[in-house]
Amino acid sequence: MKTEIKRIIERNLPLNVKYNLIDKSYTSLIDSIGCTCHNCGKLISNIATVRPENGKESYLIGFDCLETILINNNLLDGKSIEEFNKFKSNLPTFIKHSKQIKDNISEMNSKNLNKVVSIQFDLEDFKQWAKYGKSSYLTYYYILETGKKFNDNLRLKNKINIEDFINTFKSINNKINVQLN
Ligand SMILES: [Zn+2]
Repeated sequence: MKTEIKRIIERNLPLNVKYNLIDKSYTSLIDSIGCTCHNCGKLISNIATVRPENGKESYLIGFDCLETILINNNLLDGKSIEEFNKFKSNLPTFIKHSKQIKDNISEMNSKNLNKVVSIQFDLEDFKQWAKYGKSSYLTYYYILETGKKFNDNLRLKNKINIEDFINTFKSINNKINVQLN
């Protein structure tokens, strides 16, 4: 089986550092003057804001470049090409779930006096269930500053690397404390 390997090409953003995804937004190319990707210079409508792990300045980039940056984050962790391809194919799902939880937290924090301070993932439970079938639920808990917690879950394919999901989640939800058990 031949697998497409995205070539990691360094453009304006140096690839020797990790980047956190701060925000995602959309701007219509017709209505606005438009925005160009800080990394490759292309006109972009889907805009991701990223910031180097130890940097202050943030950059606006397109989703192609976001994919490159997140895969590069993984490569910096010393992953193999196989792991990298697997990660690439699952990345849209990881981003979707991570962004959904981020939105949920923002919504809850805007309504409640008790803020969400942590998210706790039940990895052991997922790994147990992942032995059976094709997909399993990953249970997670929103933990409030009072210590009170309530749970929710999301469905993931069993074959994914759950740690890849957690790393993507941390990159997108970089302001929230993540607990694993
Ligand atoms: Zn770009």
